[in-house]
Amino acid sequence: MLPYSDEQKMIKEMVRKLAKEKIEPLVEELDKKGEGPGKARDILIEHGLLKLPLPQEYGGVDADCTTVAIVVEELARVDGGISMDVFGAGTFVFFVKNFGSEAQKKKFYPMLEAGKLGAFCLTEPGYGSDAAHIITKAVRDDGHYVVNGTKTMASNGPLSEYYLLYVRTGPGEGASGISCLLFEKVPGVSAGKHFDKLGFRTSPTSELYFEDVKVPVDCVLGKEGDGWKTLVFGGGAMRVFGASSQALGNAQGAMEYAIKYAKERKTFGVPLIQHQAIQFMFAEMGMNIEAARSLHFRTLQMIDGGNYSQTEYELLTSSTKAFVCDMAMKVATDAVQILGAYGVMNEYPVAKRMRDAKVNQIFDGASQIQKMIVGRALSKLY
Ligand SMILES: Cc1cc2nc3c(=O)[nH]c(=O)nc-3n(C[C@H](O)[C@H](O)[C@H](O)COP(=O)(O)OP(=O)(O)OC[C@H]3O[C@@H](n4cnc5c(N)ncnc54)[C@H](O)[C@@H]3O)c2cc1C
Repeated sequence: MLPYSDEQKMIKEMVRKLAKEKIEPLVEELDKKGEGPGKARDILIEHGLLKLPLPQEYGGVDADCTTVAIVVEELARVDGGISMDVFGAGTFVFFVKNFGSEAQKKKFYPMLEAGKLGAFCLTEPGYGSDAAHIITKAVRDDGHYVVNGTKTMASNGPLSEYYLLYVRTGPGEGASGISCLLFEKVPGVSAGKHFDKLGFRTSPTSELYFEDVKVPVDCVLGKEGDGWKTLVFGGGAMRVFGASSQALGNAQGAMEYAIKYAKERKTFGVPLIQHQAIQFMFAEMGMNIEAARSLHFRTLQMIDGGNYSQTEYELLTSSTKAFVCDMAMKVATDAVQILGAYGVMNEYPVAKRMRDAKVNQIFDGASQIQKMIVGRALSKLY
């Protein structure tokens, strides 16, 4: 066990039990439907899991990134998509805590406390990895911004009641002309139908349209033109307590299922697990999961401890995202291999784990983009 605090250990145990007993039985049906977390979201809200990172006066426990990561990992041990709401709530609180004004905290914390969902809107149809070139525009007009543009792949897009929206305000080109706006749903915002996806089918994803949306200028998070700064800092943390935690939980769940299966299934007269080639596959899985867990924890401790240089922050957050998510894809693929033909049947859960692992390698900055950031950081350091 990693050196978690007593409170973190208690939360971990509670969420593991909840996920196993109440959420796992819902997953197969929800995955088949592909329309979102359904009743599972009510369970998360009922147990206060979306509120954890909020300050105590808003019903939370001021959970740090390590604690949010624990909850996401334990939920993803049964299903990554269902952990998306905890990841989303953690993201909003992280951005508001670090960049929000007192007025923004007073406005948005109660919405989070009430379990209302928001959408993080960066990706556009023409710009995903190349986020510095987004074209959604916010133009100042008499104390307001008028926003026009289309965002895509927004998790919880169809259900969102507030938005963290990256827009181009200028001055400056590329990253230097980007601002981040935080506002409640207003006329002019609408959602497209949710996408039918390969993985993360228990989390809805859609386009969001912003047509002549009028929002007051004080909805800027931080300062105008600081959007990229919020994205580099917030995005780094999100990748770790979000996608990496999901990948870690998913890999652990895939390995555990494959081990149980390999103890039951016999080939050539003995249980599959007694074949050395299969034992070595499990050894690789176990070693890689533990290596990933150590890096993941180290990075979370760095974020929560706050003692790092910018280069170290980028090196460790991006290394963790790429390493853990790529590791999970390999583990899930090997778990499918160990189940043989049953592995590719949707009624066995490892196929879903492989589909979900692929999503984690792509969202929140794909593995290739993380490696570009790691490469850049290394060349600054050495
Ligand atoms: C389920 C899901 C949920 C999501 N939720 C959100 C959300 O809530 N909010 C949001 O804003 N976005 C969200 N996204 C979008 C996600 O963050 C982007 O899909 C991701 O950043 C990659 O962008 P892209 O899909 O446009 O790929 P592209 O940028 O088109 O890249 C395509 C591929 O090429 C690779 N590539 C691109 N450029 C280079 C390069 N220079 N060198 C080497 N390889 C390169 C990429 O790694 C990728 O594999 C979500 C995506 C998914 C699948």
